[in-house]
Amino acid sequence: MFQKVHLYLTAMCAGITAAIMLIMSLCYLYISEKGLYENQYTSFQNDINTIATSLEQQSVISMEWLSKMESRGNYSFFVLDNGIPFLYNRLGGLSDTSDTKELLEKCLNAYEDSLTDTNTSITTEPNFALYNPCFHAEFSFNPGGRKHEFYASVIEMNRNNSSLQMVVLCSLDFLEEQIHRQRTRFLLIDVTAVLMLTLFSFFFTGRLLQPIIENRRRQTAFIAAASHELRTPLSVILSATDCCRSADPDKQMGFLDTIQQEGALMSSLINDMLTLSSSDNHNFPIRPKEVELDTLLINTYEAFEPLARKHSLTLNISLPEETIPTCTADDERISQVLSILLHNAISYTPSGGQIDLSLLYKKNHFCLTVADTGIGISDEDKKKIFDRFYRAEKSRSTKGHFGLGLSIASEIIKFHHGTITVSDQPGGGSIFTVILP
Ligand code: ADP
Repeated sequence: MFQKVHLYLTAMCAGITAAIMLIMSLCYLYISEKGLYENQYTSFQNDINTIATSLEQQSVISMEWLSKMESRGNYSFFVLDNGIPFLYNRLGGLSDTSDTKELLEKCLNAYEDSLTDTNTSITTEPNFALYNPCFHAEFSFNPGGRKHEFYASVIEMNRNNSSLQMVVLCSLDFLEEQIHRQRTRFLLIDVTAVLMLTLFSFFFTGRLLQPIIENRRRQTAFIAAASHELRTPLSVILSATDCCRSADPDKQMGFLDTIQQEGALMSSLINDMLTLSSSDNHNFPIRPKEVELDTLLINTYEAFEPLARKHSLTLNISLPEETIPTCTADDERISQVLSILLHNAISYTPSGGQIDLSLLYKKNHFCLTVADTGIGISDEDKKKIFDRFYRAEKSRSTKGHFGLGLSIASEIIKFHHGTITVSDQPGGGSIFTVILP
């Protein structure tokens, strides 16, 4: 299921960014290509102005001058005397003079049409050499039906009682080639970027999904473990009920006791699970206030001392001699943590052992420790005991221990921005240390 979501998110991330990039690239290409054609048209107009000015000042048009102009600007010139062509230049791509003649005719027709067109720029050059005034018009000429083929200009002038027409054609093939190269470059860049984006999205969404996958895995494990833990007391209750029905009245009391005990176990397990669930949903009730931790420790000691004595254990308490400041914490929750630690210490310490409860105040931190001389915890188990429903092998038989105590303690301490750790007691046993800021 997560694989599908991962692929879907990757496709969506990469698709959206690629679409934005593509739209931007297309906008850029459109603006840049439009600019290229406009610049070329302006430069063509400037060149025609220069040519017209030169023509006004020359009395004879020389071939040499024409070829010089031609080579300078990628232009082709045609001259018509009283409408009769007398000078052709072969245009690139056109194989013979009949093609050129046809092109010229089309150009002159287009010129006639363009005189009424508002896009045509028409200029008269009256200031220079009044003897040879020039008239010229520039327009876009597309004989093949494509959008940008030529910029054309027709320069008209009167010389020695005859009318001369000069047709100048500027082929836009080189511009098209340039645009084509630019488009190919953009396409390559875009394809590479889309590939990189897809890879990045794949890893990025994978990392985003990781906590969700982990959460889901933990939830499934939690439900499986919870169902497993609930099944045992439930089956005991069911079989005890069966037995109770058919048992003699004097034995029924024993079965009812069993049912009550198992019911109490189930109730405590359900309470633990609800606590963890509210912690997961971030509505764990923590009501911080100023707490005198030394007083809280004394109260806990007094509550657990009889229980420790019952198990033939010695419970000691050690408090700082000087007065320590109050700690901002939820006293009920801190008591709950101490209860969990002391319950464990009592459960996992054989008779005759010792449990030390102590409080220290150092560098603005409160340090609470519960040390026992019990069975100890292996290094392997130390990494897992704060996990939900985890119980070390040797403590599995201990009734009423579902492996949730330390995970609840760890959640409570986390909500207090503190830490809880476990270490070995020199000479055997474990030390649980809680640090509160
Ligand atoms: P449980 O309810 O089973 O005690 P906890 O979460 O409190 O669950 O503890 C997890 C496991 O850590 C226990 O099953 C036990 O194996 C180990 N453990 C906890 N405290 C001690 C201790 N003081 N000494 C030895 N083992 C301990």
